[in-house]
Amino acid sequence: MSSVSPSAPVIDLRSDTVTRPTAAMRQAMLGAEVGDDVFGDDPTVNRLQQRIAADLGFEAALFMPSGTQSNLCALMAHCNRGDEYIVGQMAHTYRWEGGGAAVLGSIQPQPLPQGPDGRIEWTDIEAAIKPDDAHFARTRLLCLENTWGGQVLDAAYVHDATARAHARGLATHLDGARLFNAAVASGRPARELLRGFDSVSVCFSKGLGAPMGSALCGSHAFIRQAHRWRKMTGGGLRQAGFLAAAALYALDHHVQRLAIDHDHARRLAQGLQGLTGVSVQEPQTNIVFIDLSTEVLHRHPGGVAQALAARGVLCTGSARLRLVTHLDVDAQQVQHAIEALRDVLG
Ligand SMILES: *Cc1c(COP(=O)(O)O)cnc(C)c1O
Repeated sequence: MSSVSPSAPVIDLRSDTVTRPTAAMRQAMLGAEVGDDVFGDDPTVNRLQQRIAADLGFEAALFMPSGTQSNLCALMAHCNRGDEYIVGQMAHTYRWEGGGAAVLGSIQPQPLPQGPDGRIEWTDIEAAIKPDDAHFARTRLLCLENTWGGQVLDAAYVHDATARAHARGLATHLDGARLFNAAVASGRPARELLRGFDSVSVCFSKGLGAPMGSALCGSHAFIRQAHRWRKMTGGGLRQAGFLAAAALYALDHHVQRLAIDHDHARRLAQGLQGLTGVSVQEPQTNIVFIDLSTEVLHRHPGGVAQALAARGVLCTGSARLRLVTHLDVDAQQVQHAIEALRDVLG
């Protein structure tokens, strides 16, 4: 038996959002040149916006306080009141953003079932596109997500679905909160994964390790519209260059290293093989799902996550645990986490 002593530091696998800025990132933030970004005067924000737009192959970009606000402004820029967007039943932009598109944008979601790999079948999409008739909302947009549940969305599927959507007059948006994980895992430049999308939102505050911020990318006209919604929803920031500097630092130093997080996730999954009633999917990126039998669950009436927390390992979920590797988790901590998990689940 081994256990993490109460004084051992916590291994926080709840999300890749828990990272704290490194010393070098803090230095980059301290040294940032700043100005009032509501006046368009912040040179670091402007540099970040130009950089991310160029990197991802779009005309323009907008620095956003959060991924939720970025997706919301994207939906509101693509759709008007009484329009609808087609989206996965479990997608972040439908399920995890408080219904913002409907509440704040008067945009109707049309959620559809997703396969285990995150795809929405074209036959389902096509059947959901409404005719031009006063009875119906106007179907305007297809919204996909990559990575989805830590999996890289299939490139041929993306190509096909976005081309068909365009042929039916729909615009396309990607929630790419973890796009760079998808790029690193598939060994392709991020911009290649964006072919077929009219807009994308990417997060700097997940695996890239910045304290906050996202970027929304699209055409000049689209970004102009999104900029109005950003101001209206309270996202016009002033000396935001301090935060843009963290994002720029992350783009320079924290993209390729995502491969380490992916390796740690694989090691974590491998370290849990052979336990009865415990089934672990082979992770593609930095998220590990662990499915537990009712027998394993019954052994921990107070919850498995709570039992793990008592051993210094934090994660989310109950019958399906979710563990996320990131910048603040090293190989030794992964090994400790495996030992704690084997103790609790074995
Ligand atoms: C985290 C996340 C977002 C944005 O979340 P914020 O916490 O608002 O930055 C959007 N989509 C997905 C898939 C995410 O994981």
